Amino acid sequence: FEMANIRDQCSWVHSDDHEMATKKAKDTIKMAVYKARLRQPLYPKVIDVNQSCLVVGGGLAGMTAALDLANQGFETTVLEQSDVLGGNMRRLKFLLDGQDPQAKLEELIQKVQGHPHIKVYTKTEVTKCEGSIADFSTDFTSDGRAYSVAHGAVIIATGASEYQPEEYLYGQNEGVMTQLELEARLAQGEFGASNVVMIQCVGSREEARPYCSRVCCSQAVKNSLKIKELNPEANVFILYRDLRSYALNEEWYHKAREQGVRFIRYEDDKKPDVSGDGSLTVTFYDPLLRADLSIETDLVVLSTGTVSSPGNKAIAEMFRVPLNQDNFFLEAHLKLRPVDFPADGLYVCGISHAPKNVEESITQASAAAARASTVLSKKQIASEATVSYVDPDVCQGCGQCVAICAYNAIALDPVKKIAVVTETVCQGCGACAATCPSKAIRHRNWNPRQFFEMIDAAGYAYGDQDLPERIKTTTPAGER
Ligand code: SF4
Ligand code: SF4
Repeated sequence: FEMANIRDQCSWVHSDDHEMATKKAKDTIKMAVYKARLRQPLYPKVIDVNQSCLVVGGGLAGMTAALDLANQGFETTVLEQSDVLGGNMRRLKFLLDGQDPQAKLEELIQKVQGHPHIKVYTKTEVTKCEGSIADFSTDFTSDGRAYSVAHGAVIIATGASEYQPEEYLYGQNEGVMTQLELEARLAQGEFGASNVVMIQCVGSREEARPYCSRVCCSQAVKNSLKIKELNPEANVFILYRDLRSYALNEEWYHKAREQGVRFIRYEDDKKPDVSGDGSLTVTFYDPLLRADLSIETDLVVLSTGTVSSPGNKAIAEMFRVPLNQDNFFLEAHLKLRPVDFPADGLYVCGISHAPKNVEESITQASAAAARASTVLSKKQIASEATVSYVDPDVCQGCGQCVAICAYNAIALDPVKKIAVVTETVCQGCGACAATCPSKAIRHRNWNPRQFFEMIDAAGYAYGDQDLPERIKTTTPAGER
């Protein structure tokens, strides 16, 4: 297959000049023909699929993905870093829609632990991962003992954690706490405080963490409603920069307003100030009243952001998957491959990918499991044929291709000191071929001769007198 892209490169971009667009379309077709005539047959490799999956992370997303796969009959191994399954969800005591997250979590853990197709290891650390789609091998330790597991696909769901604030007297005054700490207190069923001030965007949308943590606004709305339920007389103030109780959670925001929760905006460059040894005072500038206000309060609750796990870097290196600038795992394409990593056979879900709520984590986990099952459901798969290859007689072993390959598809043979491409990992991007100073590494579908022929073909449209000498001498006039 060779494509002459007439629509994008001619019709659309030159819609005001039909004659020129037609001329360019002819050139484009000629270039495609010239390239196509030098094509070589491509042979994909057929690989046997190990029909089992490794899930790294035993939180809500990891367990959901594992259960989805195991219910389809695929052997699944779950590696949890801590000593218990459940992750961050263990700290959620109630949900906005009234569901009991701990009951749901307990049910999920029971299903995962009791499933005949799932093996769970806790207190784990991944030490090595080799191989590629359909045929991975991962080494890990669990409670100090070494293990190795072979698998055909990987789902990364390592989670994230709550930002530990250093601002607003957190850690210095017992009246200052995070939303999760407040939630644990509210879950005890009594609430005596009469004044509560919540501060949004603590640690989020800052220079160090410029992203929105997505769940904190809804969490503040949820906890404020719970406070009102337990103590209707309590005054709750939510100081926010922008309130993002998005989608159906808007309804709960309206409920909170109806119940008297007061939402007051603060500006980024005029953050609230919290002071006091015992009792607390929150001072802030109200941009609507254009006045400084202060509230005497019993509790200051910080809506802290989500921070990625520091362990992501090591996991990313071992599994050869990318991270974004905030150290969260990065999908291959936001819209077209939202749970895939660029290399085949590796998938991502949960808050190790980006902050998200319970429903979103579950949905994404099922999506990752569905994508993994497209590999695991086959006994054999064919690898991409349009990959790179090395001419061993020309390679100097300089390693520049190894450094440039974003997929870690190339390694230097330690004995022969030449580059070797793992064809099942190679994505055919061509970066190595463009980098190699010796032209030793080539792309099977784009050899240099094809490029030169295409350039010559483009010149061909301008009449014989403009033709490069090489075409004039090598191509008989009747064939031009
Ligand atoms: Fe790596 Fe080269 Fe394959 Fe691109 S074409 S993935 S740089 S080996
Ligand atoms: Fe060999 Fe070229 Fe890679 Fe250097 S860049 S190791 S010469 S293939």
